[in-house]
Formats: sequence, structure tokens, C-alpha cells
Amino acid sequence: MTAPDIEEKPYKIIFEGKGCIGSGKCAEVSQNWGMNLETGLAQAGSHYIDESELEHNIEAARVCPARNGDGVITVVDRRTGEELDTEP
Ligand code: SF4
Repeated sequence: MTAPDIEEKPYKIIFEGKGCIGSGKCAEVSQNWGMNLETGLAQAGSHYIDESELEHNIEAARVCPARNGDGVITVVDRRTGEELDTEP
């Protein structure tokens, strides 16, 4: 998959699917997240997002209870390479 322009989609979502425990919390707070009924795991609609989609994806990362609350969703600012603060 080719990544879209940084200017267009400045944020990248990293989903560590192996750690997902299928709680569905992400899908409750973000329309970018849904549950795959076959695997029982979450899946993201898009892995590259812009400012308008940022807030609810950060919220999804915050509410993810996997890994004792650390979560398995990370949002990265592609311009700086920094992870955004998604702690509760
Ligand atoms: S909130 Fe986390 S553990 Fe729950 S379904 Fe979403 S990614 Fe998986």
C-alpha cells in the first residue's frame, strides 16, 4: 500500500492487531474503527488520517483496554515521527 501525501494525511495509525482483545471500545468512540466479525478483532477503515479525523482516533487509542490499558492503537504525527499522547 502506498502512503498518501503527508500534507494530505499528516497522521498515521499503527494498530498492533495481535494484542487486540476484541473489546469493541474503539468502535464505540470512532467511526474509523469497526469489528471484523470473522476474526473478532478490530480493524481500522483507514490508517492515514487528516486533522478532521484525529480526535476520535485519539479517543479510540485512549479507550483501548488491551495490554493492561496501554492499548494497541497508536497515532503518529508523520511530520515529526512523534507518537501523540493517547494516555487516558
Ligand atoms: S479497543 Fe483495543 S482491544 Fe478493544 S477492539 Fe479496539 S483495538 Fe481491540
